[in-house]
Formats: sequence, structure tokens, C-alpha cells
Amino acid sequence: MKVMITPRKPDEVGGYLMMPLVANVPKGRPGWKMVKCPECGAACWHRPGQENAKATAVCTMCALKHGFGR
Ligand SMILES: [Zn+2]
Repeated sequence: MKVMITPRKPDEVGGYLMMPLVANVPKGRPGWKMVKCPECGAACWHRPGQENAKATAVCTMCALKHGFGR
């Protein structure tokens, strides 16, 4: 009997990670780093440790656009 092993695709792991927009949180928090959203270029906050999440980090607006939280 053959067992099929289907490897998980990297894009199955995380989906999207929401980064707060600088427009919404102008001051940010200690340790937050201002970055640009890779999709729309809006300024948003990179939070420490978020790179450990296997997800694409985008700004709040883009995450909502992708159906984040549905
Ligand atoms: Zn964006």
C-alpha cells in the first residue's frame, strides 16, 4: 500500500499578518520599526518577533482586502 505524502506549501502556513498603520497608530510602541507595506507602500509598524510568523506581513488595509479575520 502506497502512502501519499503531500508537502505543505509555504503559502498554506500563515496567510497574512496585519501590521498597524502609522496613520492609525502615529506614535507606535517601543521596539516597533516603521516599514512600508510591500503591497501598497503605506507606512506601517513592524513589530518585534513578527518575522517568526509564517505569514506575509502587510498593512491593515491590505490584510482586510485579503479577507483577514474572516
Ligand atoms: Zn498595504
